[in-house]
Amino acid sequence: MPQNNETCETLPAGRVSKIIQIHPSLNCNLQCKHCYSSSAPGIKKELAFDDLANIIGQAAEVGYNVISLSGGEPFLYQQLEELVRFSKAAGYFNSVTSNGMLLKGSRAKNILKHVDLVAVSIDGKEEQHDQMRCQTGAFKKMREGVAVLRDSIKSYGFIHTLLPDSWKILSWLAGFAIDEKASLLHLHPLEMSGRAIHTLGGSLFNQTNLYKIYISHYYLQTYFENDLFIQLDLLHRNNIRNNPNFVFHENCKPQLTITGFSSIFKELIINENGDILPIAHGCSPFFTIGNIYSGEKLSSMIDRFMQEKMNYVIDLFQTTYDSIMDDKEQEIVNWSEMVIRQSFTLFPLHAA
Ligand code: SF4
Repeated sequence: MPQNNETCETLPAGRVSKIIQIHPSLNCNLQCKHCYSSSAPGIKKELAFDDLANIIGQAAEVGYNVISLSGGEPFLYQQLEELVRFSKAAGYFNSVTSNGMLLKGSRAKNILKHVDLVAVSIDGKEEQHDQMRCQTGAFKKMREGVAVLRDSIKSYGFIHTLLPDSWKILSWLAGFAIDEKASLLHLHPLEMSGRAIHTLGGSLFNQTNLYKIYISHYYLQTYFENDLFIQLDLLHRNNIRNNPNFVFHENCKPQLTITGFSSIFKELIINENGDILPIAHGCSPFFTIGNIYSGEKLSSMIDRFMQEKMNYVIDLFQTTYDSIMDDKEQEIVNWSEMVIRQSFTLFPLHAA
């Protein structure tokens, strides 16, 4: 969930990433402590391929160009091969976030032919990884999957869920990623949602550990400049002030055209229920644009959303921006988390 929409640095130069983040199912072979979606083994429900493909096809017409699949474990989605084949044919850059444990065998091999980027989740050294994943041997299996990626895909990387003391292992993580010949290390702060609320409720960031993470990232990105792209989903307040377009769509106008929609909402989310949301995964359902099963055209959903909700979106971004500028104590900011929290404060579940 990048804040500056630059996840796919492997897109051809000059193309801005406009991402559809899809959660096709919450089925997973693991049950990790930090899971933001409470994914687990044995969850049968998954999005119907035909309805999903229909919306993806329409989204390409309004400017979206990247598919980002997560979940759950995407490799458990029954029709993953059909899905990535379809989105590739529709012109998308296909990216998948995976725990890396199901990448062996001919099915995965066929799927990977249509995937441009895989981000494999990693929690630290073997013991720490297995502990967070609640499964002995998870690290070893993940490395076997990484070996498959090295042989079969152009670009792959690692994604690490940042905990307050993650700064202690960032240097190891960067070295590990380079040793494994990855091109990306994505650092995303722990989200207090799903299972993480119950298992890691006490793991809240304070400014000191945010500073340590921020500075370590800066140092490592400079040091490994030519070897690894390290993406951090945290921003300095001054950065936001100087570049409000990173986070605050100050040019939002209710009369905006449909094709301009993807320039404002560079990330569209399709959750496990088929709901289509802008802004960020986990934001208030008040902002739901529509649902893939509704039979309605995506352009009609967007049109209605812009007429009815755009002023509220502007309010949400402005209020979040103001709260960051007003809080002199907080310099390092997780914009995404703040905007999600603010969305529930301003627009609770059933507000109309
Ligand atoms: S964090 Fe990822 S691998 Fe772990 S349970 Fe959730 S979806 Fe599965």
